[in-house]
Amino acid sequence: MIKKKYTNNDIYEFLHKEICLTKVMPDMTTDELRAKESDPYFWKNLSELLECFRICDACHKPMIEGFCIDDGAEHYCSPDCLHTQMTNEEFEEQYDNSNGTSYFTNRYEDSMTYKKGE
Ligand SMILES: [Zn+2]
Repeated sequence: MIKKKYTNNDIYEFLHKEICLTKVMPDMTTDELRAKESDPYFWKNLSELLECFRICDACHKPMIEGFCIDDGAEHYCSPDCLHTQMTNEEFEEQYDNSNGTSYFTNRYEDSMTYKKGE
């Protein structure tokens, strides 16, 4: 069920492209973005400008794929982060063979990059 598509580098590459396309803020290189990795305030502010990523509720880093709990009430970027809040069994129960309110996602609808089909 869990198919990770992106590495940490991909996340910053993706956000760099999104910032270029949306122009919500002055352009930042992937290195500049990566340097902000541990700055939760930066990500919180950016998440209010860009809809295309989420912030992990456990490690507070940006994520473009991961666990979406209870229809978006919580997000976790990795199994390790998920397991700070619930076990695999609890997650599987909420996932309920994709009939539940929790799932793993690697795509957010409102991304400029995806819209351009790049
Ligand atoms: Zn995390």
